[in-house]
Amino acid sequence: MRRTSRGGAARWTLILSAILAAVAAGLTSYIDDAQPILVVVNLPTPVLAPALVALFLLAEQFLMNVEFRRQAHSLTLAGVPLVLGVLLVSPQTFVIARLVAAMIAFLLQRINFDKILYNGAAYACEAALDATIIHLWLQPRHDIDLWTMTVVLAVIAAVDQLMSLLVLSLIRLHNGPLSAREIADVLVSAAALSLVASAFAVIVLLLLRNGIVGVGLVILVIAVGAGAYRGHASTRRRHQALTLIHEFVSDGVGAESLEVLASQLLSRIRQLLRAATVEVMIVDGQLANLTAARPDVEPTAALTLTIGEDEVLVVGRRTVDYSDWIAVRALVQEEPTLAARTTKDRGLRRWLLERGVRDAVVVALPLSSGSAGTLTVMDRLGETATFLEDDLTLLQTLTGHLAVAIRSTRLVEKLGYDATHDSLTGLSNRAHLSEQINHVLSTGTGAAAVLLLDLDRFKEVNDILGHDVGDRLLKVVADRLRACLPTNATVARLGGDEFAVLLPGTENAADLAELVADTLAEPVQFDEAMLTPESSVGVAVTNGLSAQPDLLRQADTAMYEAKANDRRVAVYGPEMDRGRIERLALVADLRMALSDHPEQMLLHYQPKIDLQTGLVTGVEALVRWAHPTLGVLGPDRFIPLAESTGLIEGLTPLVLEAGLAACRSWTVDGYPISVAVNLSARNISDPQLPERVAQAIARIGLPADRVILEITESSVMGDPEQTLPVLHQLRDLGVCLSLDDFGTGYSSLSYLQRLPVGEVKIDRSFVQGLSGENRASTRALIKTIIGLGADLNLRIVAEGVEDLATLDELRGMGCQVAQGYYISRPLAGPDLRNWLSRTAEAAPRLRLLSVGS
Ligand code: C2E
Ligand code: CA
Ligand code: CA
Repeated sequence: MRRTSRGGAARWTLILSAILAAVAAGLTSYIDDAQPILVVVNLPTPVLAPALVALFLLAEQFLMNVEFRRQAHSLTLAGVPLVLGVLLVSPQTFVIARLVAAMIAFLLQRINFDKILYNGAAYACEAALDATIIHLWLQPRHDIDLWTMTVVLAVIAAVDQLMSLLVLSLIRLHNGPLSAREIADVLVSAAALSLVASAFAVIVLLLLRNGIVGVGLVILVIAVGAGAYRGHASTRRRHQALTLIHEFVSDGVGAESLEVLASQLLSRIRQLLRAATVEVMIVDGQLANLTAARPDVEPTAALTLTIGEDEVLVVGRRTVDYSDWIAVRALVQEEPTLAARTTKDRGLRRWLLERGVRDAVVVALPLSSGSAGTLTVMDRLGETATFLEDDLTLLQTLTGHLAVAIRSTRLVEKLGYDATHDSLTGLSNRAHLSEQINHVLSTGTGAAAVLLLDLDRFKEVNDILGHDVGDRLLKVVADRLRACLPTNATVARLGGDEFAVLLPGTENAADLAELVADTLAEPVQFDEAMLTPESSVGVAVTNGLSAQPDLLRQADTAMYEAKANDRRVAVYGPEMDRGRIERLALVADLRMALSDHPEQMLLHYQPKIDLQTGLVTGVEALVRWAHPTLGVLGPDRFIPLAESTGLIEGLTPLVLEAGLAACRSWTVDGYPISVAVNLSARNISDPQLPERVAQAIARIGLPADRVILEITESSVMGDPEQTLPVLHQLRDLGVCLSLDDFGTGYSSLSYLQRLPVGEVKIDRSFVQGLSGENRASTRALIKTIIGLGADLNLRIVAEGVEDLATLDELRGMGCQVAQGYYISRPLAGPDLRNWLSRTAEAAPRLRLLSVGS
């Protein structure tokens, strides 16, 4: 509701109160000299008036509550004293007695000021109207006859309806339009009650005529009436409670979620107890902590399900500790608490005040072992009532059933959860994801995107660092995915290290995929190991054309494409299916080239310089393929294919042979530099490799220390038992092993000592990071690597140096060797030969140095 209209409503209430008060005052002075209409009891006003006040107060105790909207409306038996008062005392006494009784009641019930104002004015006005109309109509008389009674009943009922209408219009002002049904509810029950009350009053009057016997009978009748009303009221409530319990048992058990259960049941309880708010709190475990009144004990986490007057279920989490002693008492000792509005207990008053509620009932919910709960009902609706022992008893009868319903619903929820979720990460599983995909495709706009990713080289983590670390890494990945994706995304673990994400809608799917890859690639530190969970992400989006595309398969194709091209993200397109076929053709061509046309394999050489002396230390041999129809292909196009098909086992010897031969020719020409050749995982698991290298060195006649073999950590870690012996044999030949692409993947600095390497090449992504956004942290990282290199006596090479500033900075940090476009691009054999001579001539300082001197 808007503020202004609320303010407006308040103003209207005030104006209406003033009008009612004015009408009351006007009418009272107008008939100020009138005498009582009936003189059946000969008692003086000073006796009758207090008796009347007492009767009004008594009548207020027999409330009948009609609740709707955000209010409970109390209809009272005030009709009885109204009929008696209007007939037995003078109008003025009558109005004043009514007003005094109302004020006393309000004060006892601690009602707020504007309500007192309006209700006081309304009561006075009602009494004044009753008195005025009846006095104008009837003359004083000595006995009651049918006519008198009819007039009295009709006037009182009519004025009562008028007042009810006024109240309704106020509600309308405050809370918006009312339905005809709601209006009828109030008016009909008001009419019925005022008739019953008036009839009751007539009986009282008839009895009073008979003097002292009559008074006795009146008391008897009131006692019986009161008893009957109370009996009726409690029977009715017990009946409602039973119905509710029945519903708990039939609806509650097996509700598919706690939310569904709670929104049904809590709203019923709220209505039954006429409360503003009902809250269920559930605590799982940690109950022992609650009893310790020490600040150092962690508060206990609790789940809360709350329903308020808007009937919207709010699920929340909060903490409880010993300071919420009433909740704790219920949770730990299962002891209930009744905190009535009128309570004198200072502890209870304080508790209510701290929580900003007027009154509350708290009872324990006996959940299964290890869990406990409370049911709290707060703020009885209506102005005059508060919670009583009765309400506590009623709630307690309900809690057993409520607890059973909660227990079984939680079980159902858990079973359902287990069937649809991955137990390690808590993400959805494949079945659930497929279900969600179908659901999204068949509802709403039908637009959706699926991201699919797996971690690069996850198997190594499991193999080397153990399954424990593997599991921890998967959990970290799950947490990162959840944290970086919008809440409407379904994140699933499909198995192993494969994850998928369903995004309703297709906008920014590619951006989110980039974000996912970025977020995952932050290094994680686990004890000794620093892991960088890199991944390639395949994206598939609906295009509104094909009916129900197979998004998962398309995302899988895209992911494969991303990996094959060493890209982090690829979005599926139909050409990718064609790409697959092309790749197959390329593999066949490569096989043919290696066996029949090895001359198609060309080597380019990229120089490396010593940063202190500026001299060329050696070159890295990088292969290209002069494909007969596709032109010259870079290694990215075919090395991954060669690796996955095993063709690399034929390629590497070619490169090795050609690289070593070239190196020998430069030596002959007076440039005794080194040559570096890249090895793949398959090569270093091949036990024959050391023998082959030895033969090549011998045949070509090159000192072994001119040969550098580049390996990557991940290719070693794939199968260390197989690869480490090979590496040691290579080192024993006298060739230098170089750890390539260092800092990417699952680099573990501590692992470095175990590898027989003499050189580390810092990956170009870090080197280029020196001029990027995170330059400070990159710098720190490179410094650490350089420091470690010094400790372990390793030569540190920086790859990918593209400008002078980077070159200078690396030199400043103590890096020994640099390679990169700034120095030279990879060059074909003859071009390198020219470059070497030009460099030697152009810069006298660039003397050529042989490796190791
Ligand atoms: P790599 O071993 O990291 O080789 C360095 C790559 O970085 C080369 O790409 C090189 O051209 C590029 N590069 C050098 N300086 C710069 C620079 O300043 N900026 C940038 N942006 N890039 C620079 P290339 O030649 O495309 O080779 C790509 C990868 O293919 C190599 O990465 C290596 O992993 C693989 N590769 C190349 N030749 C062979 C081979 O004979 N055998 C095996 N197994 N793999 C090879
Ligand atoms: Ca390399
Ligand atoms: Ca590299």
